[in-house]
Amino acid sequence: EKKIRRIDSAKDKSRAREKDSERLKVEENVFDVPTLKILYTLSNKGVIKAMGGAISTGKEANVFYAEGPDKELAVKIYRIASSTFKAMDAYIMKDPRFTNIRKNKRDIIFAWTRKELQNLKRAKNAGVRVPEPILTEKNILIMEFMGENEAPYPLLKNTHLENEEAKNIFDIIVEYMRLLYKKANLVHADLSEYNILIDPNNLTPIFIDMGQSVTLEHPNAREFLYRDVQNILRFFSRYGIKDKPEELFKKIQAE
Ligand code: ADP
Ligand code: MN
Repeated sequence: EKKIRRIDSAKDKSRAREKDSERLKVEENVFDVPTLKILYTLSNKGVIKAMGGAISTGKEANVFYAEGPDKELAVKIYRIASSTFKAMDAYIMKDPRFTNIRKNKRDIIFAWTRKELQNLKRAKNAGVRVPEPILTEKNILIMEFMGENEAPYPLLKNTHLENEEAKNIFDIIVEYMRLLYKKANLVHADLSEYNILIDPNNLTPIFIDMGQSVTLEHPNAREFLYRDVQNILRFFSRYGIKDKPEELFKKIQAE
């Protein structure tokens, strides 16, 4: 069912806000008041024209469809009240870009959100297909919506492929891992069939979910890369791809 709501922007601001905020709260039950305020500010700035329904409700974040001024958007909202953020410490505290953030939950989440935006930018600049990052504000990341007619492209996990199509996608994924490593100085660190979308128009992969991606200076970067390699090989083994993890791991790092 389609649930596009106009976000009331101009006149009678405060009252409209209060009314709308209650409605949003009731319908989605996920927007806390600070998050709503940011959404209204973004709406007043013209970044978001209308909020749509939820695309995904994850452990740490929810992703919503939205209309932008000139294209469709995905709005990823990290939940402040989420309880799984202890795990974020390991990724963010050792990242040289984020050594001086304060250690409370809110600040870690805001830094995490900025980190995802920066990682997406680096990936894009390196030639990896990712949603175009647009901006962050506190716990909200706005990016290009990867899909058509309000429906997101399918996850690799849910895509039915012929062996030949799978091999082609696999080769591009490996090339993207290499570009990330060599050009963006990054390891995805949560790469699997759950964080790769497939563009059905040309059967090519799109990497998503880069909040936990780390730079190569991170002490566990190579361990994360090895795990990514194993995940990808485990998934593609059903399509007859039998590369050895050690060899693929080396190939990605080779000059
Ligand atoms: P999580 O941390 O919850 O796994 P993800 O970034 O993986 O967050 O996003 C969750 C889901 O939302 C994805 O599996 C995908 O279906 C959808 N999604 C995320 N980003 C986009 C996007 N830019 N365009 C379309 N769908 C997206
Ligand atoms: Mn994910």
